[in-house]
Amino acid sequence: MHFHILTLFPEMVMNGLSTSITGRAVKNGHISIDAVNIRDFAENKHGQVDDYPYGGGAGMVMQPGPVYRAYEHVKDNISLRTGSDDNNQAIDTSDNVIENKKPRVIYMTPQGKVFNQSIAEELAKEEDLILLCGHYEGIDERVLEMIVTDHLSIGDYVLTGGELPAMVVIDAISRLVPGVLHNDVSAEFETFHDNLLEHPQYTRPEEFMGKRVPDVLLSGHHKNIEAWRKEQSLQRTKERRPDLLEKRGQ
Ligand code: SAM
Repeated sequence: MHFHILTLFPEMVMNGLSTSITGRAVKNGHISIDAVNIRDFAENKHGQVDDYPYGGGAGMVMQPGPVYRAYEHVKDNISLRTGSDDNNQAIDTSDNVIENKKPRVIYMTPQGKVFNQSIAEELAKEEDLILLCGHYEGIDERVLEMIVTDHLSIGDYVLTGGELPAMVVIDAISRLVPGVLHNDVSAEFETFHDNLLEHPQYTRPEEFMGKRVPDVLLSGHHKNIEAWRKEQSLQRTKERRPDLLEKRGQ
């Protein structure tokens, strides 16, 4: 999986994603992340990429030109890597023409569909993803119409920029890429799998400030442990996220 981030703050996303599990996944070659600075594609010598909104109003709007050129730059790099041309065709070793899909371009915006685990699972199947981060009052609509395939929000609140949302989306997708987590089952049986919250987890010591680990977990009886976990999972979902149980029923 190759992530390409179009942003005005590449150091912010690269610093955040180069640590912990995503950082290790990059080092091990399971994923790649490159952040392209939209400002590098400004046409004026001051690197200005924003301007006043037509029709008036507060704030500034990101201009279409630099965003479009940054996108073209990423698209060309993907074509170079995959050997495809402008028509998204590639030639394999037996001279067959292979259709390459255009990479999906995801605009991080509070106006998008709210991101969730099943969207992460769907996006994890892509080979390349381009994530576009806005700032200020957002991005000129014309370039969005030209390049964006998906609009994604990370929740119903407004942030100052799309960088944190892009990092959230990349983190959630990365851990579904085979090899990124050491234990492949750990992504499969956890919260949101089957619209359930995960059961509570415990580790050593057996007793902490008078509170003991539930006996069943120390019993070594796998069937009982499984039944207990399932029951806890259902109970927890009922208490904390009854909306998920409704989805299970559908
Ligand atoms: N004026 C825009 C509106 O009302 O829809 C909000 C612009 S916001 C201040 C600046 C940028 O932050 C957006 O272009 C988007 O990239 C990002 N952003 C803010 N909140 C977000 C959210 N909840 N999910 C995803 N991206 C968000």
